[in-house]
Amino acid sequence: MTKFSDLKLDPAVLKAIAEAGYESPTPIQEGAIPHALEGRDVLGIAQTGTGKTASFVLPMITLLGKGRARARMPRSLVLAPTRELAAQVAENFDTYAKHTKLTKALLIGGVSFGEQDKLIDRGVDVLIATPGRLLDHFERGKLLLTGVQIMVVDEADRMLDMGFIPDIERIFSLTPFTRQTFFFSATMAPEIERITNTFLSNPARVEVARQATASLTIEQALIAVKPSRKDATFAEKRDVLRKLIRAEGDSCTNAIIFCNRKMDVDTVAKSLKSHGFNAAPIHGDLDQSVRTRTLEAFRDGSLHLLVASDVAARGLDIPAVSHVFNFDVPSHPEDYVHRIGRTGRAGRKGKAYTIATPNDEKYLTAIEALIKAPIPRGETPEISAARPSSSARQEPKPETAAKPARSRSISRSRGRDKAKDAAVDAEVNVEVVADVATTQTAAPAAQTTTEAAAAVAPSGPITTGSSSDPRRNSAAPAQPRERSRSNDRSRDNRGPRRDDAQIVGMGDHMPDFLRHAFGSKETTNSGE
Ligand code: AMP
Repeated sequence: MTKFSDLKLDPAVLKAIAEAGYESPTPIQEGAIPHALEGRDVLGIAQTGTGKTASFVLPMITLLGKGRARARMPRSLVLAPTRELAAQVAENFDTYAKHTKLTKALLIGGVSFGEQDKLIDRGVDVLIATPGRLLDHFERGKLLLTGVQIMVVDEADRMLDMGFIPDIERIFSLTPFTRQTFFFSATMAPEIERITNTFLSNPARVEVARQATASLTIEQALIAVKPSRKDATFAEKRDVLRKLIRAEGDSCTNAIIFCNRKMDVDTVAKSLKSHGFNAAPIHGDLDQSVRTRTLEAFRDGSLHLLVASDVAARGLDIPAVSHVFNFDVPSHPEDYVHRIGRTGRAGRKGKAYTIATPNDEKYLTAIEALIKAPIPRGETPEISAARPSSSARQEPKPETAAKPARSRSISRSRGRDKAKDAAVDAEVNVEVVADVATTQTAAPAAQTTTEAAAAVAPSGPITTGSSSDPRRNSAAPAQPRERSRSNDRSRDNRGPRRDDAQIVGMGDHMPDFLRHAFGSKETTNSGE
């Protein structure tokens, strides 16, 4: 087995690795680091969770060991799609470079330009940035990229989903032709392939196998919801979600609830809070400080339920959770595997519930084809809406805390549920603006060629783009609007996304998968 000491890394790096408690390199590290240290470009096909960040940060620190940074001319550049991922790379850099004199700056939106300008003016060895913020600095004349010796593009497939590819191409063109490039992507979509062919020079291709099967420690269940009316779907799914969480009781120690759309993330979180749950949203349109606080609270256990979009949650180093709830069926089958992979880690047990409507049939078919197994059909639990999942974990709302929850009659509490949800809907409807319509092409099957290394990756990251939401007013299609660059800039234009699909009524269109196998005792469309 390869040891870190075999990898010709700087002794200061080896010391930091030992202090971090790492015993041996992961497959992506073992495969990428030797090529990187030889000065080759590296194309890494790997997901978060495989140790890929260290696979580029460790050689970068070693290679940058000699030489000094000049004012406004960073010596290396790391591009990450989201603020959280950029911040995570910066944290990794701090850990691994702590015994060196190398300096870094983190350029992300939501933070004032002034402080970032000061750092750049002093000269930094490593600049870690989101593409939009980097170009903002460049356009303000505060930054020169002609001194970049090493450029890293992390999570390129996510960049593609978020519409960053033109920015990436522009940034590539602003750096010297002689730079060394490390390029990481979980999948190799044709557009990604094109970029690598254009900007990488004879790269060493290092691939760790993509996880296409769900861990055996994850108990999965698919909960069918047959909406009573098209416009009741969202509220009825929220009702099912609450029942599922409550039924899990104290076994649900913490959970991530995934929604496909950012605006739904907000609404679902708001709705859960109004029902006394300890929940908070995380998505790309929230202030950086709010996102950071929310994640910290989830990590330290003070936040019980994290309602997330795929983009916001993707790649985040979040500890294992007891439950994953897919409020929406993801439209890309890989996302299902990534989402549920948040639970059942390291041999621990986990549960993953997926709420499905008749509209989701084709996505379910794709998911089951990918995981090569049917998702077991579950039932919406028959449970009093008043039953808390854990009294300790519910927010101290007077109406839930004052009375012993189980003493309430089901019908009465259901009535309250309805009233609370109506209030949330009314509030959200006022706030809602049409979001940007983003689209995605299905990711291709995993590449199998491996030049340097191959191994099975542990559970991976989360994917998918944000999208429009015509659900709120199905008669009026959502109007795309350009968002600010400092946000996550979803401005993809690759054809209509699933949200634009006509919602098909039940009638003759009742899909087969809803006719059997679910075995749901409860009619979830009872309008509760
Ligand atoms: P990443 O895929 O870069 O997000 O890394 C996932 C997690 O693995 C991070 O928490 C790292 O600290 C950790 N990690 C990275 N390399 C190693 C290693 N060689 N041994 C143990 N843990 C590691």
